[in-house]
Amino acid sequence: MQRRDMLRRLSSGAALACPFVLSAEAHSAVQEKQPAPRGLPRLKITDIKTIMTAPNRIRLVVVKVMTSEPGLYGLGCATFTQRALAVQTAIDQYLRPFLIGRDPDEIEDIWQSSYVSSYWRNGPVLFNAMSGVDMALWDIKGKRANMPVYQLLGGKCRFAADLYFHASGRDFQEVEENVRKAIGMGYRYVRAQVSVPGLATYGSRRSDRAAPGSPSLDDTVGPTSPTDIWEPAAYVRIVPRLFEHLRSKIGEEVELLHDVHERISPSQAIQLCKDLEKYRLYFIEDPLPPEENDHFRLLRQQSSIPIAMGELFNTQQEYVPLIADRLIDFVRMHISQIGGLSVARKVAAMCEFFGVKTAWHGPGDVSPVGHAAGLALELASYNFGVHEGYVFPAETREVFPGCPEVKNGYLYANEAAGLGVDVDEKLAAKFPFPPGRTFDHSWGTTRSRNGTVIRP
Ligand code: MG
Repeated sequence: MQRRDMLRRLSSGAALACPFVLSAEAHSAVQEKQPAPRGLPRLKITDIKTIMTAPNRIRLVVVKVMTSEPGLYGLGCATFTQRALAVQTAIDQYLRPFLIGRDPDEIEDIWQSSYVSSYWRNGPVLFNAMSGVDMALWDIKGKRANMPVYQLLGGKCRFAADLYFHASGRDFQEVEENVRKAIGMGYRYVRAQVSVPGLATYGSRRSDRAAPGSPSLDDTVGPTSPTDIWEPAAYVRIVPRLFEHLRSKIGEEVELLHDVHERISPSQAIQLCKDLEKYRLYFIEDPLPPEENDHFRLLRQQSSIPIAMGELFNTQQEYVPLIADRLIDFVRMHISQIGGLSVARKVAAMCEFFGVKTAWHGPGDVSPVGHAAGLALELASYNFGVHEGYVFPAETREVFPGCPEVKNGYLYANEAAGLGVDVDEKLAAKFPFPPGRTFDHSWGTTRSRNGTVIRP
């Protein structure tokens, strides 16, 4: 048999049925034509499911992508806690049938094709659904490579990520005590929020005195019977006094942060930023709502305070102009809300070229899988700023073995392959979504005294 004929028969599969044994010469000829045994066997996505669990009563959505390799699966965070069931439907009814049979190694193409698969695209529901799949595919790729995901993103720039601690209080003294507590635990970054007497407040418990004439919080809410009342003027008066207190009592060493949470007008935001300059904040967060993006240029011109923005951002049209025009100092997006790790790594790379750092949104309604994905990117991003601190409660750590560890104000990856976090599905099922209101019921119900709803 001619060597060429033999190779053709082998490549066509005919040789499989051929009852002869290859000579040593023929065998070496075949070997020459075979690709070197590098790489890994091709896989297929065999199934995708959503895991809905609420340890610590926070509704979390985690996506599990299963593959044709027995036991190999990936996990991703798809938590949009306020609309979790809508995300579950987007995954189970639409992404799952679209992606079963696809090669899980093709992360970028799966993202791009999923993005246009609904024709009308993006939005928090669809992007969170896509994020769950996207992070799970990075988890699978890391497990296949036997490397933590931060290695796939370029390797470590630092040994761990700095965390910031949340300190709040009903008065300056209580905030000060909590800042001192954080410093005592090793934190070097602390976010400080204080209650406004008699009014609702973002980031701190309502102080005990109700606004004159206000009904209780459980009464009917609406513009004609406002209950959860918040007023911007009282807020912008008290915040500079809080930071004056903290700097005078605690000193300069600790980095202090503050979250406006978008509730004030552009002119109030500019004045507040100017008033806070002398207290040297690490950043002021979300001084304007996304609807007022065009005001950042004015704010930038009038204040040197570092600005962090945009946990509500969803599409690139919202954040790219602020980065490219150097109008902010930190990006604050919620990684699952912008479509997952594949998008976030592009944002981080772009930010580096424009002098913007990352401070991804990371409260309790980001699952441990989502925190691990953010941490992987932070370890590999030169322009990392700070990680939002959230100490996972014991039951959350039991449901999600491998949670990143907090030590001395740093968040450490656990060094396992992939994202390093697993889920105990049997235990997860013991924490079903609680009935009633979602994670924070003040969205859409907080109003000014005259009944106007506050954003958000
Ligand atoms: Mg915030």
